Amino acid sequence: MTITKDKVVQFHYVLKDADGNLLEDSRKRDEVVAYLHGHDSMLPGIEAALEGRDTGETCSVTLVEPYGPYRADSVQRVPLKHLATKKRPVPGMATVVNTAQGPREVVVLKVGRFNVDVDTNHPYAGKTLSYDIEVTGVRDATEEELAHGHAHGAGGHHH
Ligand code: ZN
Repeated sequence: MTITKDKVVQFHYVLKDADGNLLEDSRKRDEVVAYLHGHDSMLPGIEAALEGRDTGETCSVTLVEPYGPYRADSVQRVPLKHLATKKRPVPGMATVVNTAQGPREVVVLKVGRFNVDVDTNHPYAGKTLSYDIEVTGVRDATEEELAHGHAHGAGGHHH
């Protein structure tokens, strides 16, 4: 079954940056990815590369800054108490800040007595990303998945 709109696609991937450094390996995490094709739930560059492919096929796709440019003005000083974790933050640590718009992933830059400087850029902002993908499954979406606009089951959403 080939990948077209309204199919649920499962794949494994290895993600590297432009210098070839390994960023993620879904097999090592034992975590297959599942998404509903054609519903903007996956990076557009990945959906385009997978369109028309079948189970067992592999492909490589390089995306230039798919998470946008790195913004130098995205460094913010926030009160320590706004951090979602009770763990004492240290520079370089990824953590979550509770904002008016909801929880937000950030990277800790500097820790003061009452405040912490955090970088609100996406961890991959400004990076060119190379994905080596292997399609491990393609199936028709269920009515429920189409209604929800996402895949259920392994690698998908759990309710
Ligand atoms: Zn759902």
